[in-house]
Amino acid sequence: MARLVRATAARAHMEAIRWPNGPSCPYCDVTEGITLLAGKSHRPGLYECNACRGHFTVKTGSVMESSHIPLAKWVIAFHLMAASKKGISAHQLQRLIGITYKSAWFMCHRIREAMADPKAAPIGGEGKVLEAGEAYHGKREIPRVPSAQRKGRLFTKSGKSGGAEKRPIVALVERGGEARVTYMQHITGKTCATLWSATQAAKAGCTLIKATSTQLSAPSVPAMRP
Ligand SMILES: [Zn+2]
Repeated sequence: MARLVRATAARAHMEAIRWPNGPSCPYCDVTEGITLLAGKSHRPGLYECNACRGHFTVKTGSVMESSHIPLAKWVIAFHLMAASKKGISAHQLQRLIGITYKSAWFMCHRIREAMADPKAAPIGGEGKVLEAGEAYHGKREIPRVPSAQRKGRLFTKSGKSGGAEKRPIVALVERGGEARVTYMQHITGKTCATLWSATQAAKAGCTLIKATSTQLSAPSVPAMRP
């Protein structure tokens, strides 16, 4: 019974988020003439659109579509991934909500996909302040090749590579606004400017404040496209 209540509550919660003004058909976008198919022969939360005769649930057309993972577990996974500051691994998710590692991995992948904004507009513009910064995390996909002058010597005396073997991540943040984060193979002022203008991440006319790193201090604003 408790499981049933949880499932019903999870469905109501998801429906309220996705359809604040009542259900709409994911196939033909109408909001009128939608019937909830009640009864034992239908799955819970199944709707029928009178206009196109299509059947759908709150999962249809979302990242949760055609997965057999219960909706309550999706709700918890969405919450955990959005609320944890440092992110959450598939292993953690597996332990916390009691699913297989394969399912947890799938959920992580789908939820991250849902978090991405495919139509992200450029940030910045006239009178705005953008801040750029970098961080090094994880392992590089393609290891950096030391220059010939190093003759095989390590990067530092202690033998640790510092940031050299890590994956560089750059972020562009608008003060009081949104942020754009990506990872790059090599960070220089030039590659950053190319990236930002190519992805149209930033509009011209804004003030760019760079992190203390010498690599990002190279002038990169003039290369940005308006
Ligand atoms: Zn329809």
